[in-house]
Amino acid sequence: MAIRVLVNGAKGRMGAQTVLAVSRDAALELADQCDLGDDLAARIAASRARVVVDFTAPAAAYPNATAIIQAGAHPVIGTTGFTAEQIQALQALCRERRLGGVIAPNFALGAILMMRFAAEAARWLPHVEIIEIHHDGKAEAPSGTAIKTAEMIQAARSSAPRPQVESRELVPGARGTRAYPVPIHSVRLPGHVAHQEVILGGQGESLRIRHDTIGRECFMPGVLLAIKRVPDLHELVYGLEHLL
Ligand code: NAP
Repeated sequence: MAIRVLVNGAKGRMGAQTVLAVSRDAALELADQCDLGDDLAARIAASRARVVVDFTAPAAAYPNATAIIQAGAHPVIGTTGFTAEQIQALQALCRERRLGGVIAPNFALGAILMMRFAAEAARWLPHVEIIEIHHDGKAEAPSGTAIKTAEMIQAARSSAPRPQVESRELVPGARGTRAYPVPIHSVRLPGHVAHQEVILGGQGESLRIRHDTIGRECFMPGVLLAIKRVPDLHELVYGLEHLL
């Protein structure tokens, strides 16, 4: 039987792509589509959606995810902007209900590989910085992908190495954000979709690992894979790599 899917944020760039992708997949049925102003919980109940995909806005990410889980549907969340505490709270909520779901800051398969390769490389070249570049319509910075990459790098290398000298910022932010153990530099410009470069430096050498999103259709194979896998899960996972 086809999996009934509700798409939230359906009028947006990612939501519209998801509506198309779900409609074209014979294993899935588009149960409903919602956007700003709709009563998400009521629409989930009325449509009997089994999986809800959310591509909305960072401020809406946590309340939407909570509403989806409390309605008993499997969340597939692409919206970015969650704090670590919010992810843990949602994971606890899913665990109580033995409900499968995924929060993925990036659904592009190449981006998952870029993060994995960066973490592996950082074991040997621990001096690392991240540059992420997005279109100027992106509301928040740094990107969820950059934060996740920084977390994966930090988990893979034993400690954050010290630079030769601690540079003094003449202008705050000149060295990127220091909120994470790996500095992240965020660029917002028209003419771009989503790009990330991880730069590693060693003695007399440098390694660059780069991923470029050229069109939003690159996210769809990952979104469809997540929709099909979450009904068989009994927990909420953070990152598409847990489903690959
Ligand atoms: P977008 O074009 O602005 O679309 C968002 C849509 O959601 C808009 O139609 C917006 O309505 C609507 N919306 C806002 N708040 C809502 C709410 N509370 N309930 C329901 N709908 C709401 O943004 P986008 O480019 O599609 O990106 C959406 C999110 O996905 C962002 O957080 C972005 O960073 C993330 N993203 C993730 C991935 C990934 O692979 N995980 C890839 C790309 C983007 P209004 O326009 O009226 O506000």
